Amino acid sequence: MDVQQFARAHETLSGSTTLAALERLAAECSGDAGRVSLSWHLDGTVDGEGACWLTLEVVTAVPRQCQRCLEDVIIDVRSVSRFRLVFPGETWNDEDLEDDSFEALEVDGPLDVSVLVEDEVLLCLPPIALHESCEAPGVPDGGNSGRPSPFAVLGKLKRN
Ligand SMILES: [Zn+2]
Repeated sequence: MDVQQFARAHETLSGSTTLAALERLAAECSGDAGRVSLSWHLDGTVDGEGACWLTLEVVTAVPRQCQRCLEDVIIDVRSVSRFRLVFPGETWNDEDLEDDSFEALEVDGPLDVSVLVEDEVLLCLPPIALHESCEAPGVPDGGNSGRPSPFAVLGKLKRN
């Protein structure tokens, strides 16, 4: 895809796929990647200064293995990011580099949208997947069975 042309023409492009089509993401997915859908939307624009921009929206829900209870946890991904296209030979100033509301995207040839989409989702995944609240296997009801545990009783005796 010629991304410069795309931005200059203010084009938009949408698509959907499954995680199975994105190898690196499929590797992060604990369920059947072929059943997990991902949709994306790409917008091209040119700003007043002639710079080309892309806005990428990605929506998916990636099942991953919870590192505490070892069951699946669904990570909802809904990301919108802006990319400022930088073409070969183009210089850009330090102020732009300090602005973290967008990323610089060096364009040197045709752009593979699926790589951009895949990178975006990978960035949104937490390094360790966990449910908000769950318990490790083998610890039923957190030990709160109503009866004080022998260790708690022991602690009480010690304090006395
Ligand atoms: Zn869990």
